[in-house]
Amino acid sequence: MGSSRSFTVLGGGLSGLSAAFHLSRRFPARTGTRITIVEKSSRLGGWVQSERVRVKDKHGHEAEILLESGPRTLRPASKAILEIIHLLNLESSLLTVSRNAPAARNRFLHLPGTKGLLTIPGSLPALLVSPLAKILVPAMYRDFRRINGTVLNASSPNDESVDAFFTRHFGPEFARTFGSALIHGIYATDSRLLSVRAAFGAACRLEESGNGSVVRGALSEMMSSLRKRKSQGNGATEETYDMGDIAHLMKGVSVYSFRDGMQTLTDAMANRLRQQENVEIIHGDGAASLTKTIDGFQASFLWLYEGQLSHASTSLGNPSPISSLPHVLANPSSSVTVVNIVFPPSDTPIHPEGFGYLIPRPKPDYPSQGTTLGMLGTVFDSCSLGGQDISFSADRRSPKFTKVTVMLGGPYGPPSPDPSSPEFLPALLATLQQHLGHSEPLPEPCLVRVRQHRDCIPTPTVGHVARMAELRKAVQKKLGQGAAVIGAGVGGVSVGDCIESGRRVAMEF
Ligand SMILES: Cc1cc2nc3c(=O)[nH]c(=O)nc-3n(C[C@H](O)[C@H](O)[C@H](O)COP(=O)(O)OP(=O)(O)OC[C@H]3O[C@@H](n4cnc5c(N)ncnc54)[C@H](O)[C@@H]3O)c2cc1C
Repeated sequence: MGSSRSFTVLGGGLSGLSAAFHLSRRFPARTGTRITIVEKSSRLGGWVQSERVRVKDKHGHEAEILLESGPRTLRPASKAILEIIHLLNLESSLLTVSRNAPAARNRFLHLPGTKGLLTIPGSLPALLVSPLAKILVPAMYRDFRRINGTVLNASSPNDESVDAFFTRHFGPEFARTFGSALIHGIYATDSRLLSVRAAFGAACRLEESGNGSVVRGALSEMMSSLRKRKSQGNGATEETYDMGDIAHLMKGVSVYSFRDGMQTLTDAMANRLRQQENVEIIHGDGAASLTKTIDGFQASFLWLYEGQLSHASTSLGNPSPISSLPHVLANPSSSVTVVNIVFPPSDTPIHPEGFGYLIPRPKPDYPSQGTTLGMLGTVFDSCSLGGQDISFSADRRSPKFTKVTVMLGGPYGPPSPDPSSPEFLPALLATLQQHLGHSEPLPEPCLVRVRQHRDCIPTPTVGHVARMAELRKAVQKKLGQGAAVIGAGVGGVSVGDCIESGRRVAMEF
């Protein structure tokens, strides 16, 4: 062995941790390879942050509640996450939500200017009696009838916004009601800005395979995957991801997390890296510049500029600031205010059973920035992730504390009233009361925790995928084969995308 390869991972969020984890598996200490993670803050994990808090109500009920201020749920479709869970032996920490559970079946919309929630129909019988049928049925019919309308085929560089794509296929009412709400929930942004190729590459492929219709494309994909499964039999094995038996554990699972929250994942990756002799973690070093030093006959550097690319620069003998690379600063990012609220136990439920609700873009448009609370949606955490909380009540049947998380901001700008002002909480609770359809005010919360995340979710705008291809080429041209750029600002924003991109880049070096 005896090589002297050296890798530097800039940023210890999910993407950087995943890259370092997979690099350290490929290049253990005995290979003589050094791996350094440079993280500007005092902790690893980036936006992933879970915290346990003790709450008590005025009747003496007590509980320990787990609060998430970043990502909270994962989908079993990401094999890269399942692989890491298996490799780090985290199976026993999993908390899964079955596809049959109310948290998986019931999702709601709140239409601006109305009172209460509408259930998003999850089956044909539910659709037939839903007030949303008047939008959904014509939308599906409109798309189903489309022929030869393919615009975004794989061979063309064309792109358009998510809103334009949904409007073309399903009509403007669907695009506004469902499209904008969905994008509020994932990207906290305006669906008219977001690139459909970047956000829903799969929908573009369905448009092509369905000869212009996404619905026909989805139906034919379903049929061919059924045929494939039949021909492979039930014993189909996973070749490329080392997942052990975990796929079995995920059968029938809608979403999942961990008993101690999402930070279980980043803490476990960080701990495993700390145990490796050849891995060094440097904290609190803003990494405003990195200097390439070649010590040894072979040197290879991996630079992963994540998230806030604008904060990073490099000097490579001839200073080569990263901002001189193309498209690094092309995308805006959304700022989100995350409010965790814990209500005391009560016989009257705070909300219906379900995952939570999203709110579409208001008509005629978003109000001026910073003039409203700007609510994007609310997650009913107790329903899906109640297993994270520990109640100290002697009576197991007594009602539990209810935790919800409200997301504000994004295209609405900073919330008004300001979260630090005394008017903020009453305004928030009155809005929640109206959304949840209560005639009486909501009970006084036992705990309210507000986190204001600046520029936390990138908005890949129209043309993003083509721009990132140019960026990758420019990185290789300017910085050499040993450099790569990954992270939520470059690839997808989901936890699965970030872990997958770290894995892929580590395998490529
Ligand atoms: C509120 C919220 C809720 C979310 N919910 C979900 C969810 O439920 N499910 C899901 O799949 N996804 C969710 N996401 C998305 C997902 O969590 C993020 O996209 C992902 O965590 C981003 O990881 P990253 O490593 O690419 O970037 P980051 O987490 O931003 O990490 C980048 C790291 O690099 C460091 N850094 C930056 N600049 C420098 C520098 N110059 N030098 C050194 N270090 C630097 C930062 O301090 C940070 O630690 C959510 C995101 C947010 C913000």
